[in-house]
Amino acid sequence: MAKISINLSTGSVQKEDIIVGIDLGTTNSLIAFINPEGNPQVINDTGKGVLVPSIIHFHPDGSLVVGNEAKGFLVADPQNTVFSVKRLLGRSYHDVEPHKDYFSYKIIDNDTESLVKIKVGDAFYTPIELSGLILKELKERAEHALKTSVNRAVITVPAYFNDSQRQATRDAGKLAGLDVLRIVNEPTAASLAYGIGLNPDEEKTIAVYDLGGGTFDVSILKIQNGIFEVLATNGDTFLGGDDFDQAILNYWIDENKLDRNLIFKDQKLFQAIRLKAEEAKIALSSQNIFNDFVNDIPCAITKLKFEELIANKVKQTIMCCQNALQDASITTSEIQEVVMVGGSTRTPLVKKEVSAFFNRTAHDQINPDEVVALGAALQADILAGNRKDILLLDVTPLSLGIETMGGLMDVIIPRNAKVPSKAGRQYTTSIDGQVNMKISVYQGERDLVKENRKLAEFDLKGIPSMPAGYPKVDINFILNADGILKIEAVELRSGVKQEVQVKPTYGLTDQEVEQMLLDSIENAKEDVSQRMLIEARTEGEQMVYTVERFLEKNSKYVSPRETNDAMTHLEELKQTLKTGDKDQILKSIDFVNEFTRPFAERLMDMAISTSMRGKTIE
Ligand code: AMP
Repeated sequence: MAKISINLSTGSVQKEDIIVGIDLGTTNSLIAFINPEGNPQVINDTGKGVLVPSIIHFHPDGSLVVGNEAKGFLVADPQNTVFSVKRLLGRSYHDVEPHKDYFSYKIIDNDTESLVKIKVGDAFYTPIELSGLILKELKERAEHALKTSVNRAVITVPAYFNDSQRQATRDAGKLAGLDVLRIVNEPTAASLAYGIGLNPDEEKTIAVYDLGGGTFDVSILKIQNGIFEVLATNGDTFLGGDDFDQAILNYWIDENKLDRNLIFKDQKLFQAIRLKAEEAKIALSSQNIFNDFVNDIPCAITKLKFEELIANKVKQTIMCCQNALQDASITTSEIQEVVMVGGSTRTPLVKKEVSAFFNRTAHDQINPDEVVALGAALQADILAGNRKDILLLDVTPLSLGIETMGGLMDVIIPRNAKVPSKAGRQYTTSIDGQVNMKISVYQGERDLVKENRKLAEFDLKGIPSMPAGYPKVDINFILNADGILKIEAVELRSGVKQEVQVKPTYGLTDQEVEQMLLDSIENAKEDVSQRMLIEARTEGEQMVYTVERFLEKNSKYVSPRETNDAMTHLEELKQTLKTGDKDQILKSIDFVNEFTRPFAERLMDMAISTSMRGKTIE
């Protein structure tokens, strides 16, 4: 139950700080809270609807709109309209390259291993910044609707999100001015909304089937003592309701003997038929026949025909369920509950096939678009301590991490992670022949280590001399049930190893922990922009180092004029690095990268042709 307090001197009613639950989706996002009656409820900001399309449009003057308003620009101004950012969160260009044609906006590929950026006009945005803009819109809507400030949130992510994607989601929340209390798996939130897992004594294995507009995933969860463990996930990140629309669209093109190329060229007509196909699909969830026109093109289809068209796609999702069960080493008979999530689970054939496969009726009473956000709101309420009957797991109050280039905090165990906990990451050297690596361990929520609390520092000595980027240093954090943190560092190529132990909470009072959290949220905006600037600078410095070395070693493959020009561009990059302008730095990096790419390609071609002649180079 939310508490309300009255300020006796002013008479104003002050609601206790509300913690919201946010479903940050690929297509749509929404926000929910616990209403004064104690029930989860989605927030509908006056007439704007519940679902906020996860779309951002940038106007030429630099201003932007998020949500429904931005959706209209998908067709009118695709280059400046960003959608599906969630697919890019925490991803490198290497990860997304196979799907790059899917995005109508420009994704930057200056280094295949680093995280992607998106270029709109002259500015560069990271998926974190873009997700932050969507979260900010949600926060503002909630504040407007609830007439109170909203500063704390629980945000959901797919169960298959890795560390870097989860961290990116946290950062996006921070950027939007939200203190992200916990990142919760979407299937966990959906089960909570159905009351599954709320009783600490229950032990269950469940399946959560999530079919949205563009993605499908299934998760097998085991619930024990109020802990949700993901046993397996499976899915297809490019399968969803959009494919059903596409199937109807193709059917109409064939039925009416329309010229496919002509239709594709006429974007307005194409979009109109596509939208009509979606309308037909939705209608066929509750009726047997659909009949309409677009201009003078007949658009008719029966439910039977529709089901025939999508049968294979639905089968594909069932195969994923089968694979997930196999990975979890269980059979359908061991699944005790099935939960349906995502708008496309309203299609009757989907419900029928899923229930048939698991041999039980799936939970579908709660709106499948809202179930995740509602569950997230419940989780938020539990964290707020409003549901005393529910067991709260022992969690670590502050994030634990190490210092990386530029004095940045790299979180390894995030705050609120359950205890005991183990996590690790791989690092490498930045300088040729580096034989020692200083490992500084910090605790806190700020992006710069200097603002956090130092727990330990040690040197990993005796790394064999190798070129920069070669050594593989695994750093593992092991936080045991007593809250003791053990840090292990090992260089994998040589086996050199070092470890230390600390007690992170030693000497910290509850008030100090709270103050550290408050500081982090107060300084979030500044912190994240500083982090981005440092990352851009580090990337730039790395590029200067790499290109200079390349020119030094491979002068025979680059003409003197090219070398000269490259040096001039490098000089420009060095000058830009001295400024504090992140966008200018990224632009400069992009430029040097474009200029030097042919050199590297030439070198590769030479290497191939030389090796074909039976010789090797260097
Ligand atoms: P989500 O990504 O979870 O918001 O799901 C969006 C997808 O659900 C879109 O492909 C919608 O066309 C689809 N959808 C929404 N309502 C229905 C309905 N009544 N029947 C079938 N599909 C629907």
